[in-house]
Amino acid sequence: MRTLTADVVIIGSGMGGGTTAHALARRGVDVLVLERGERLPREAENWSPRAVFAERRYKPSEQWLDGDGRSFAPGVHYVVGGNTKVYGASLPRFRERDFDAVEHEDGISPAWPFGYADLEPYYGEAERMYAVHGATGEDPTEPWRSSAYPHPALEHEPYIAELAERLRAQGVSPSSNAMGVDRREGGLCIRCSTCDGFPCKLGAKSDAETCGIEPALATGNARLAPGVRVRRIVAAGRRVGHLVAEDSDGELRVTGAKFVLAAGAVNSAALLLGSDVANSSGQVGRNFMMHNNAHIVAVDVNRRNDVTFQKTLSVNDWYLDGGEGRPLGALQLIGKVQGVMMKTAAPRGVPVAALNQIARRSVEWLIMAEDLPHRDNRVTVDDAGTITTARLARGLRTHRRLLERAKRLLRSAGYDAVLTQHFDISMNSHQCGTVVAGADPATSVLDPWCKAHDLENLWVIDAGFFPSSAAMNPALTIAAQALRVVAESDLAS
Ligand SMILES: Cc1cc2nc3c(=O)[nH]c(=O)nc-3n(C[C@H](O)[C@H](O)[C@H](O)COP(=O)(O)OP(=O)(O)OC[C@H]3O[C@@H](n4cnc5c(N)ncnc54)[C@H](O)[C@@H]3O)c2cc1C
Repeated sequence: MRTLTADVVIIGSGMGGGTTAHALARRGVDVLVLERGERLPREAENWSPRAVFAERRYKPSEQWLDGDGRSFAPGVHYVVGGNTKVYGASLPRFRERDFDAVEHEDGISPAWPFGYADLEPYYGEAERMYAVHGATGEDPTEPWRSSAYPHPALEHEPYIAELAERLRAQGVSPSSNAMGVDRREGGLCIRCSTCDGFPCKLGAKSDAETCGIEPALATGNARLAPGVRVRRIVAAGRRVGHLVAEDSDGELRVTGAKFVLAAGAVNSAALLLGSDVANSSGQVGRNFMMHNNAHIVAVDVNRRNDVTFQKTLSVNDWYLDGGEGRPLGALQLIGKVQGVMMKTAAPRGVPVAALNQIARRSVEWLIMAEDLPHRDNRVTVDDAGTITTARLARGLRTHRRLLERAKRLLRSAGYDAVLTQHFDISMNSHQCGTVVAGADPATSVLDPWCKAHDLENLWVIDAGFFPSSAAMNPALTIAAQALRVVAESDLAS
């Protein structure tokens, strides 16, 4: 059988895998990254809303099942760079309190096995690696930092600057989004309208291929094997011995001294379950989370929104305390939506031309609240490899309150109507949990540095390790933890 080998073998090239690969390779470690997908081509369709959203050009044909056995097309991307190839590049840090046990209206958000202070230096390193643009002193909930943002915040376009004024007049503190795009002096980003949800044709988005895999390969210490899907992790005693993988030519055996699983929260859990490893706690697959999210479309019939790059502003005033001592969540602008992108959420039969009319007068937001972990919200996989994500959303009262608050805010800021689209199980772009980190091997799968409690040479470094989801975009926290694991555990030694 064909064999591949390396000192450290990484499964998956997304935020966790790509960041880990770079951190290891620049320390001189011999790294092999196995990625089931291919390189996403740079082509005209990258920026076509029809190709990307209506025709789902970059999504797999794979179907998953929900808890009732209904199939759905998951929001995943099997390409080099993983989901970050299409992500919105919003890269905020979690808040200090996100690492503590916090009481929510619907239950407790559990503590992490390390605190914000432990991750803080690595947040700074991740911000430099992913070229984050941001500002301090605007957001009442911003956490302390020991290093400045590497780049200044993106400027608001006139419509957004005026929106910020309107919101300020309502007593909230709009703040600049922390964004990973290449707007450095001479940078590649042109602030187009096809960033959030689209691949970047210019390579100007700070995705894991651009900022992780490419620089890792440039060290000469890393190799990338695209089109290689890992099927099974084979362990003997307390060690992983080898992986069984396949590419277009058939089966492969992959050996190494250490292994990093970074296939994304759902796929990592599925691979561990299918391989029957690292699960003495019975926790693998459990505590699946994906945020309680909704998009809202705020329409002002008398004002055109001619913004190009919309995703520059957040309102986090109610993140830690909605006024009753409990957290609510975050309001964040998303990339400018076009009519064809509204089609799936609009009532059947509404023509794209009518949706375009709305889009010209609307501004769109992500309303993001914490999803609380629960043992029965879980990933399972059957003998044929079909994945089920069973989930009863927890934290919905909080999300409802946040939505009401957001709608009231926008109406009082002059918007005539605010339309809502709730995320369903297929909109799992913020998937996390499933292999949670903790100090106790009886209740967690990984130790605080993401090493499997059960295995001496297996780490899981992707969104799966999150003990709670917080209510912030996850990617920078995944990257920071990857950098921490490489710096502080024996993965690199
Ligand atoms: C449309 C969209 C917008 C988003 N916007 C934001 C945002 O603005 N900010 C933010 O913080 N987050 C955002 N996210 C979420 C963010 O992209 C994810 O949190 C992040 O990519 C998760 O990193 P990961 O390492 O866990 O998984 P991924 O980045 O998904 O990487 C997993 C990789 O593993 C590979 N893989 C899976 N199974 C196997 C296997 N068996 N063998 C080999 N390879 C395998 C996959 O192909 C993939 O490349 C967005 C996501 C989407 C889809």
